[in-house]
This record gives sequence, structure tokens and C-alpha cells, in this order.
Amino acid sequence: MKLNIDYQEKFQSRHIAPNEADTAQMLKAIGVNSLDELISQTIPEKIRLKAPLDLPPAKSEFDYLNTLKQTASKNKVFKSFIGQGYYDVIVPGVIQRNILENPGWYTQYTPYQAEIAQGRLQALLNFQTMVIELTGMEIANASLLDEGTAAAEAMFMQYSTRKNQSANVFFVSEEVFPQTIDILKTRAQPYGIELLIGDHQTVELTDEMFGAIIQYPAGSGAVYNYKSYAEKAHEKAIKLTVVADIMSLVLLTPPGEWGADIVVGSTQRFGVPMGFGGPHAAFFATKEEYKRSIPGRIIGVTIDSAGDYALRMALQTREQHIRRDKATSNICTAQALLAIMAGMYAVYHGPKGVKLIAERIHGLTILLAESLKQLGYDQLNGAYFDTVKFDLGALAGPIHSEAVNNQMNFNYKGSAVTISVDETTSPEDIKTIVRFFARVKGKSLNDVSFDELTQNLKTVIPADLQRKSAYLTHAIFNSHHSEHEMLRYIKSLEAKDLSLCHSMIALGSCTMKLNATTEMVPVTWAEFSKMHPFAPTDQVGGYMQLFDELNKWLSEITGFAAMSLQPNAGAQGEYAGLMVIRAYHNDKGDSHRNIALIPSSAHGTNPASAAMAGMKIVVVRCDDNGNIDVADLKAKADQYKNELSCLMVTYPSTHGVFEESIIEICEIIHANGGQVYMDGANMNAQVGLTSPANIGADVCHLNLHKTFCIPHGGGGPGMGPIGVAKHLVPYLPGHAVVDIDKGKSIHAVSSAPWGSASILVISHAYIAMMGSEGLTNATRYAILNANYIKKRLEHHYPVLYTGANGRCAHEMILDCRAFKNFGIEVTDIAKRLMDYGFHAPTVSFPVAGTVMVEPTESEPKHELDRFCDAMISIRHEIDNVEKGILDKTDNPLKNAPHTASVITANEWEHPYTRQNAAFPLPYVAAFKFWPSVGRVNDTYGDRTLICSCPPLTDYEFEESEVTTPEYGT
Ligand SMILES: *Cc1c(COP(=O)(O)O)cnc(C)c1O
Repeated sequence: MKLNIDYQEKFQSRHIAPNEADTAQMLKAIGVNSLDELISQTIPEKIRLKAPLDLPPAKSEFDYLNTLKQTASKNKVFKSFIGQGYYDVIVPGVIQRNILENPGWYTQYTPYQAEIAQGRLQALLNFQTMVIELTGMEIANASLLDEGTAAAEAMFMQYSTRKNQSANVFFVSEEVFPQTIDILKTRAQPYGIELLIGDHQTVELTDEMFGAIIQYPAGSGAVYNYKSYAEKAHEKAIKLTVVADIMSLVLLTPPGEWGADIVVGSTQRFGVPMGFGGPHAAFFATKEEYKRSIPGRIIGVTIDSAGDYALRMALQTREQHIRRDKATSNICTAQALLAIMAGMYAVYHGPKGVKLIAERIHGLTILLAESLKQLGYDQLNGAYFDTVKFDLGALAGPIHSEAVNNQMNFNYKGSAVTISVDETTSPEDIKTIVRFFARVKGKSLNDVSFDELTQNLKTVIPADLQRKSAYLTHAIFNSHHSEHEMLRYIKSLEAKDLSLCHSMIALGSCTMKLNATTEMVPVTWAEFSKMHPFAPTDQVGGYMQLFDELNKWLSEITGFAAMSLQPNAGAQGEYAGLMVIRAYHNDKGDSHRNIALIPSSAHGTNPASAAMAGMKIVVVRCDDNGNIDVADLKAKADQYKNELSCLMVTYPSTHGVFEESIIEICEIIHANGGQVYMDGANMNAQVGLTSPANIGADVCHLNLHKTFCIPHGGGGPGMGPIGVAKHLVPYLPGHAVVDIDKGKSIHAVSSAPWGSASILVISHAYIAMMGSEGLTNATRYAILNANYIKKRLEHHYPVLYTGANGRCAHEMILDCRAFKNFGIEVTDIAKRLMDYGFHAPTVSFPVAGTVMVEPTESEPKHELDRFCDAMISIRHEIDNVEKGILDKTDNPLKNAPHTASVITANEWEHPYTRQNAAFPLPYVAAFKFWPSVGRVNDTYGDRTLICSCPPLTDYEFEESEVTTPEYGT
């Protein structure tokens, strides 16, 4: 026997599921001889790449982690006292392992199918309840992308709801964090909002102002009493946004009690790692009266078909997928997983635990301040929570060196320094700091009455700013404080939710592919997770190398000159890309170019983002085959040739087709002075075979949480970096704190310079382990899997739109509109799929009354077959309704999904069997996933909006109701 020691396990054979035999069978079913033949029938020859991607050789999983460890070691994990919106945390182990590192949570999709998403909906409702109670506001969302964008959303909500239409000045306190002000600048520009940045204590409030934003505690750490300021503002009809630190609100009078109209902030320090900038969930809380103007998702309480408690996303008519350019924001992917973690932190610690943590932070800060004062240092802030500001004078240099020697980072500004204490800070750390502050003055710890101070710590928060009101009062925050209880609570919620752990989630346009364990492992390594985004550049070599490599690889994949890794969702990428295009036109003296052509088939984020970028939207028609109507495009490009800014085009189209005319389309736009923005959500059909630059685009975003394996997390996190052609590179986003300026950079679009940096490692891992061949194969197999499903289903459901050779790209639209004739809606099919153990494909996008199916390369033939069997079985059920064999209204489709309690109830009065209802195909019995509630009632919940946890007594049985069951009745 000859032994081969060159064997290296190939990651691509783990990521791409179909094996050789399956592939052969699928090709045969489709009617082609080879994968190459299928691909050449699918992707027009003229847009195919001529050479393979130039990427490093693929690494095995084992080798990748070893190499990455070396990269990671170039990040120096210092103790961070930088603050500025980012604080080190102690992630409770039970939350880290069972949520952050658990595919049962992180591979879930956004909870559009509420009946199989009650767990995360409850967790997000907990988050909203937590935010409402801590801020003292009436209503909260779940959640936004980061503190800076949340502040910008608040500004926009104030602007769009202002009474005085001629007011266009927004006051910004100079003590708001610089990265937040930077984002406000970006957002203000296109609307013509004038920012007045100054001191809230001296600013003159005028009738031109529609709103103001202040920070609590302020950027310097100072805790101001803003009550009279708020009163004065309200007298002038100026609405007030407060950026608040969530931890401080445990000890401080909440903004809701002194006049805030909107409160925003980050929930990072509730148990979410800094991760060099993200991902973290921001919150947005306001008054009831604004409920229809709130950006982002709101979870609301409703009832299900049995009249029982159920949850779902509320007031969706505000959102981009329905309102398009009139939406309250462009938010799609947000930060669900991180909001869930922050909410769980409050559940685990409860009001007492959180208070002890906040008091300890506050106490250690006072200990530090008092000690430094005893040493003769000059403190610049009086009332504070966790941040002290000192003027170091000539000692700034020596202190800085001492801090570095002790592996500590402070926030320096000239001769001043701020030091922020967090949950991980120990009395020992404070002692260390005091010791070297003493040393540089030629003193020692003995010159400070450290122990006496320690024994006599009293708050420095003025009496009228000390919180008196209760918080986290709901039972959910007072029940699960032992680890067993917490573990079981987390698991009980997880068990209600269908994720990729159960079955394929064939969501068209969302690319729910494998999120490999090896890709996820490094995210929680300390070298990545414990880095502050504003850490000094000489400590972040590992991250810089990671970004450099990722930048290079993604540039190669897209064909572009460079990437910006800042936008932290696809929609943010769209906005960033459009702002870059805007800056380019402005720079050339073409500031009048503000028309965005958008095909009618576009995703809702496209028009919503274009509106945010100050563009006017002109819709381009699609023809009967789902392609852009080139004649219409030409006519409109010509009509607006003097004002044309850009075209936004998704490729392959949202109809799942590689349009032959794409090159011509791009040429038309360029000939009329416009730029081409490509929505990269469908990159999974392009990688290695064609590219955005190759088809003629100038900018595109990539949804790293679709094509490049970042998990969807039940609605976020995500990353939406943009790639641009050479002429646009100088305009890529900058940052107010970290210098990433490209020459003519636009202001920031995210709080952190590299967005949700820590999850970039996931995409880095994917590309490194797949290599050129693996990535290209992923695309080929995604197209194979889609065409196999198409083949199996096309005789049962009409497939809308195919390419010239009758092939689909990586996804296809199944038309369900005809079933309406006998009362079956597409929603009925979506809900019925749950009874078969499947999450519905994308419903009614981009065409109402249809579903869009995208299997991805990570699903084996066996799973595709199970899905097709379910769809075919449902089609037979529909036939039976049509033929009258099943009742028109009382049938398994209309009553879907069927819960265990419905199936096992003593009464069963439906004209079909329980077996048919719950176990419609043999394979279902082998592994039954039970929806935890019946069909949710959307209108009921929107009529009486409840978006915090209702009192448990409303829903729980009283103990006396528990009686001995009677048998045989
Ligand atoms: C997912 C998607 C978006 C939005 O991306 P997010 O990351 O969710 O913000 C935009 N366009 C299309 C076609 C998409 O599928």
C-alpha cells in the first residue's frame, strides 16, 4: 500500500454540499452534460471572466486557524480606558456559549415568519422593555446599527416630523462623541440641514432650529443637568435627542424624566465585546406619538389564531420593504443578535446585579479621581459617572509612556486625558494607575490615602440627577439569575426558532449558506474581541493585516480598485456608495446631478438609500421577462441626461436572471454622465465567473452576511463594504477619530472606522479557505442547485423569468398568484411549509404573490429534494382545494401552521386528519419541528401597539387552574 502524506482536507468539500454522485444526478435531471455546460447556458459569454481569480492557495481549516493565530498576535490586547462609546465587558459565559457562539441563534433569519421565530422575538421584546425602562421613554425599537447612525436617525426623525417646515438648523453639542458628529455631518448634507455645533450652555436657541442633540454623560465624562435646557428648547418647539450611556442610566435620572423626546445610544457595554468597533446594537427610544416615524424594526405583541399571546414585527408599513423611498429609514439588516445578547445581560443580572456593576464602575472612577487629586492633578470634570478628565500639563508625555508600559490605553487630547472605567476594571488596576501617576511626580502610593478613600466612596452625582425611579422591574429581569435557570431560559427560546440547524432556509436574495464553525471561532478570540476601535495604530497590526488582505481579495473578486470596509450593512453600503457618487459629481462641479434611476424590481433599500443621499428617484420599467426595459432606460437616461447621477442595478437581477443587456445598460448610463451603482446582494451568482467591474459598474456593495458567510443572526449583524473603481477611491468614507482619509473622503457612515470589524474575520476565513477554485465552485454549485430545484418544481409552479436558455441564476421566482382564484394566498403556502419543517422562501419580493427560492451551494441534493417534496405536496393540497376535495376555508393550508396543542387537543373538528395536518410527508415524522404558536394576527397587534413585555399575569395560568387531568373523555 502506497501512503500519501500530501493529503490536505479541502474546506470547499465541506462548504459545498453536493458530492460527485449527486452532482451527476442533478446535471442529468437538468439535461446538461456538465457543470460547465450549465454555466455557459446561464451566464452570457461576453461578461464571463477570462482568468481565474488571483487569490492565495486555499488553506485547510486547521492551517487557517494556525496562520490566523499569528496574524492575531499582532494585535496587542491592552487594558482599555479609552471609553468614547466603547467599553470592555465581561460577557457572561452562559450568554457567550449559548447565544454568541451557538448556531441555533446565530444562523436564524430575520423573524418575518413569526410563528417559527417566537424565541428571538421574545428576546428582542425583552431588549425593547429594557431600553424603555432604563431610558424612561414610552417606546423603543430593536435595534439600530450603532450609536452614531442612531443619532443620525434621530436627527432625521426630528427633521421629518418638524412643525415649522422652514426650520433647518440642528444644534449639536460639541460634547457629543466626535464619531457621532461625523455621521451627523454626512446625513445632514443631502437634506440641507445646517448643523450648529457648540456649547449647550451658551447657545442661543432660535426659531430656525427644529432639533438638538446632547450627550449624557457628555463626551468629557461630565454629567450635566439638562432639565432647564430641555425646557427652554421645548418653549421654542425644538425637539431634543439625548445620546445616553446605557450603564449610566442605572444611576442617573433617565432622560425620559427630564424632557428628552428621543434617547439613543449603544448597548455594547451590556455584555457585547468591543470587537474593534462592532458589531453592537444601538437603541432608539422615543414617545408614543412618534410610533409611525420610528426607524428600524419594532417588535410588538399580538395574538395567534387560537387567541394566545404571540409576537411579530409591528408597523411594517414604515419600513423600506413597503414604503421604499418614503420609508422612515433604509434599515434592513440591523443588529438582532447583539440586541438579544444585551437584553439577556439584563435578564441574567437583573436590576440588582446591573446596579452593583454600575456602582462598582462609578466607585472605582471616584477612587481614581480622588487619588489623582490628592497627588495634585487637576481634574476638569465635576460630576461624572465612569469617566474622569484631567489636565496633565507637561506630564502628559511621561504619563502616556507609563500607561503604555503598563499595557493601558487612555484617551489623550493635547495635555488633557480622559480615563473611562468599565466592568472589567479592578481596584488593582486603579492602584496601578495611581502608582504611576504618583511616580511621574516623584511621589508614591503612600502619598495617597488609598485605603481610606476606598472605605469612604460616595457618589459624585448631584442629588437631583440620582436615579430614584425603578428599572428592569418586569418579571423577566427578575427570574433567571442562576446559571441553570438562565441556560434553560435561553434554550427554551432557542427551541422555538427554526434556524439552519434544522433545515435549509431558501430565502431568495438573502443567501442563507453555511456559516462554518471554523469561520466563527476567531470572532471571540481576545485578540479580536477585546480591541478598542480607537486603540493606537501600533497595537492593531493584526487587524490591519486582516483588512489589507480582505481589501485585496474583495477587490480582486469585484474587479475594483479598492474597498471601504466601513458600512455595517448592505443598505449602509448603498448609502455610502451613493454618497461617494454624489461627492464625485460635486467635485466635478456637477452638483445638479441628483437623479437616481432605479428599476421597479429593486429591493426597497435602494430607493430608501437614494432618498437618504438626497437623490430624486425615477423608476425604470421591467419587461415581461423581468429584464430592465432597455428602451425605457434609454429614454429616461436621455430625458434626464443633465441631472443623471446614477443607476442602481442589482445583478444578476432580483428576478434571478443574468440580463444579456447589462453591458449596454451601463454604457447608456455612462454616456449620459451617470455612474452605475451595483447592488451586490446577488454576488453569490457572480464570484469567480463575472464581476461588477467586468459588467461596467462603478461602485457596488457586498453583503458579507450573504455571499461571504457572516451569519444572519436573526436580523443582523452584517457587513456591507463597498468596492469602487479607481476614479471614486478618493471619496471613500473617512473617520473623525482614526485617520483613514483618502484625500477627498466623505464623512463617516458608521461609528467605527472599519464598521463591525470583528466579524470581518468570518469572510476573511471563508475566502482564505476556499481559494479561487473553491469560491468559483461555490458560485457554480449555487447555480446548479437552483436549476435543479427549478427542474423539479417548474411543472408544479410556473417559474417567472429565466435567461435566454431557460436557465435561472442562483435563485428563481415561483408564481403562486393563480391560486388566489380558489382562495389560496402565497402566505398560506409560506405558513404551510412550517408544518413540513421548512422556513418559507422570500415571500412577495420582488413580485407580489410569489416566492423566491435560493438554495445556495451549501445544501445537499437530499435536502433540496426534501424541500421540493414539500413544495410538491403542498401543490397537491392546493389542487385538492381547487377540486373541492379539501374545504375552501377549513383546509391544512388556511389553518397552517398547526401547533402541538392544536394537534393534541381533545377536539378536532377539521375535515382533514391530524396526521395530514402535522405529518404530511413520511420524513416529517423522523424530525418534527413544532411551530410554537398558530398563525399570528398582524392587524390585531398593529391596532393596539404593545412593544414591551406585558405583565406576566395577563398570560399565565393561575395555580388553581392546574387540576388532575381526566382520562377517557
Ligand atoms: C439584502 C438585500 C439588501 C439589503 O442589505 P442589508 O444588508 O439587509 O441592509 C439590498 N438589496 C438586496 C437585493 C438585498 O437582497
